[in-house]
Amino acid sequence: MPRLEPKDRYTLALVPLSGCGGCEVQALRALALAPDLQKRYEVVYWPLVVEETRLPDEVDVALVEGLVRTRENLEALREIRRRARVLIALGSCAAWGGIGGNADSFNHRLSMRAIYGVERIEESAEILPRTFAVTDLVPVDYVISRCPPPVEHIMLTLRAIAEGKPVKTADSTVCSQCPRKMKPIEKLEFKPGLPGPDADPETCFLSQGYLCLGSVTTMGCGAPCTRHGIPCFGCGGPHHEIAERRDMDIITALARKIATLAGLDPVKDLDRVVKKLLEVYNPRRFYVFTFASQVLRGKPHGFAVKALVESRRDPVLRKRLEERARFARGEAPPPSPGGGEA
Ligand code: SF4
Ligand code: SF4
Ligand code: SF4
Repeated sequence: MPRLEPKDRYTLALVPLSGCGGCEVQALRALALAPDLQKRYEVVYWPLVVEETRLPDEVDVALVEGLVRTRENLEALREIRRRARVLIALGSCAAWGGIGGNADSFNHRLSMRAIYGVERIEESAEILPRTFAVTDLVPVDYVISRCPPPVEHIMLTLRAIAEGKPVKTADSTVCSQCPRKMKPIEKLEFKPGLPGPDADPETCFLSQGYLCLGSVTTMGCGAPCTRHGIPCFGCGGPHHEIAERRDMDIITALARKIATLAGLDPVKDLDRVVKKLLEVYNPRRFYVFTFASQVLRGKPHGFAVKALVESRRDPVLRKRLEERARFARGEAPPPSPGGGEA
């Protein structure tokens, strides 16, 4: 990892791409809550925070929020990579494509009609044919994942960089921070939807037949979702072994875990478990935060690509968009909220 030459104060930029601003809020909180970081960093570019509208020629540390969806995003990313000594992908969108990567499931013209009532708006941003994670397009020095990334992780990373120390990395999964107990799966059956009030609050969701991505998601959040009765949706991004191993994919790794809990052979019975999972859950469910990631789309099993293709063909999604388009043109009442999908 790059080391900055020691000095009292480093320059800091935050470049927002296509994101929701949630990561920016977390970065702002991190700086507001840490007077030591305010002393070590001078914010020189950050549209939300300072008036300077031009990126300086050089910057010590840059945080990038959001994924790449427009030509303008792409140019901004290339520019900040050229100018920054240390580049940090902030949040799941920058790291893995995040929620915004799901845009690739939809026909763009239909989406425009659904939201704005027209297929094209003059002078609107040029939308690229697909979305990209920041990490797919330029070399990145650090990743602070999750949606949104925890304030403490931002503080720890900025502090370590300023002090020239190594940044601590996560080496386990969300399960290691989850208080629920894993128990053997007695029957290989999966339940669609979210757990209801009848779910056991102390037992692992997988052991109860609900889908939880904790065992394939990188640790660091403290498992707040499973502590509050909601399975992990994988916002932290896949565990590094899944990302690094060519033969590993989110569905493969999860099916192996489930096979082991069910007393099956995680290699020989793998296809059976995957088939069972896909009978109940839409393949998109496994890639909610990682859909855009070229790392996952490039896996030999191609589950992410399969999920993408199936989403584009999905008649339910298409029908919802068409209903919204009619609403946007004033030709129909508001569409009923979507949902109920596993
Ligand atoms: S990672 Fe989450 S909080 Fe950050 S920009 Fe993306 S959607 Fe927003
Ligand atoms: S799979 Fe989910 S519920 Fe089970 S231990 Fe892991 S994080 Fe907790
Ligand atoms: S439990 Fe899963 S979905 Fe919830 S914050 Fe942690 S990684 Fe994200």
